[in-house]
Amino acid sequence: MKRKSLAVFPGSFDPITNGHLDIVSRALSIFGEIVMAILVNSEKSPLFKVEERVEIIREAFRGNRRVRVDTFSGLLVDYAEKIGASVIVRGLRAISDFEYEFQMALMNRRLDPNMETVFMMPAESYSYVSSRLVKEVLQLGGRVSDLVPPGVERRLREKYGVARPAPRLRKVR
Ligand code: ADP
Repeated sequence: MKRKSLAVFPGSFDPITNGHLDIVSRALSIFGEIVMAILVNSEKSPLFKVEERVEIIREAFRGNRRVRVDTFSGLLVDYAEKIGASVIVRGLRAISDFEYEFQMALMNRRLDPNMETVFMMPAESYSYVSSRLVKEVLQLGGRVSDLVPPGVERRLREKYGVARPAPRLRKVR
């Protein structure tokens, strides 16, 4: 028996950003439990190992028993079926996300007609945030502290060997 209140939020999460966290908190207002499922994809070359991504997500949701983290490979619908979820949650940031997400949702429905995909929109302030852009900006010395949890920023700085920028001083007139 599938539990309607269990939703799976799949992704690379390399690493999670506040945009992902925003989607999870919105999804928790609809579903009882969310499983963040990290896709183990041998084709992509991720910055963070799967184990590191699991740890990062655990840290971000520590104390929240309604959010679990897991990894999967193979078809998402098979994984969802295995854990008893009948809903897939995905985030939609902009029209540019739409085409790919639309294709995926319809393909997943074809693979499993009982699987529904629910799209959620993040707060506007996160609508331009992506894991890729956060990595790029930090690497080039920019600030990302409002865009990712503190543990993510610390790990990114360690990976790239980029020091925290000095606080900007206001000009005294
Ligand atoms: P994928 O490789 O599957 O796209 P991501 O980790 O980049 O994995 O994204 C997982 C999901 O989270 C996708 O549905 C993506 O659209 C969504 N997402 C990513 N960043 C944001 C954001 N800033 N706001 C809302 N949704 C987001």
